[in-house]
Amino acid sequence: MELLKKRILQDGKCFEGGILKVDSFINHQMDPVLMKSIGVEFARRFGSTNVNKIMTIEASGIAPAIMTGYLLDLPVVFGKKKSPKTIENALHTTVHSFTKDRQYDIVISSDFLTPADNVLFVDDFLAYGNAAIGVIDLVNQAGASLVGMGFIIEKEFQGGRKRLEDKGVTVESLAIIEDLSHCQIKIK
Ligand code: 5GP
Repeated sequence: MELLKKRILQDGKCFEGGILKVDSFINHQMDPVLMKSIGVEFARRFGSTNVNKIMTIEASGIAPAIMTGYLLDLPVVFGKKKSPKTIENALHTTVHSFTKDRQYDIVISSDFLTPADNVLFVDDFLAYGNAAIGVIDLVNQAGASLVGMGFIIEKEFQGGRKRLEDKGVTVESLAIIEDLSHCQIKIK
């Protein structure tokens, strides 16, 4: 997606340890016009599948997921990182966070992830694939089906795609970062 690639090169900042900061348009301040284009692109890539629910994880996945859900006229559900006391029929999984270097739980109610759901998972980044593998676990626990996974930015050099494709998952990324070493952003 050319618009996104241009924006990453223009406004993205590279940090030690293979971290790309896109705080000015995705992760902190958000650009709704770009986000709409991201939704259009996910809708184009997955619109002809049997998807009937969009799933993401809070917080940064919510914006692209809601845009995609709006354009495909489908419900959107997000995994929560803190389990509310009032949650009913909770499914849990544990994920290792690469950026925060710690474990966290993702919780989702089986009221909103069910065997009737054909799920498209949408998120901001694909790095090592840990969050995505946690989502596969939740989808399996719920007895739902996974249609595919769409990421705004994939860091190819961290190997997440291979882990997911080895499990038979269809992966689509809108911008693929080949390398971030020496703090230079190299996009495919
Ligand atoms: P993974 O689970 O694939 O290793 O990492 C994906 C999650 O970690 C994403 O949901 C994202 O929140 C976060 N993440 C991974 N790499 C980066 C990065 O370079 N920049 C930012 N902003 N978040 C990242």
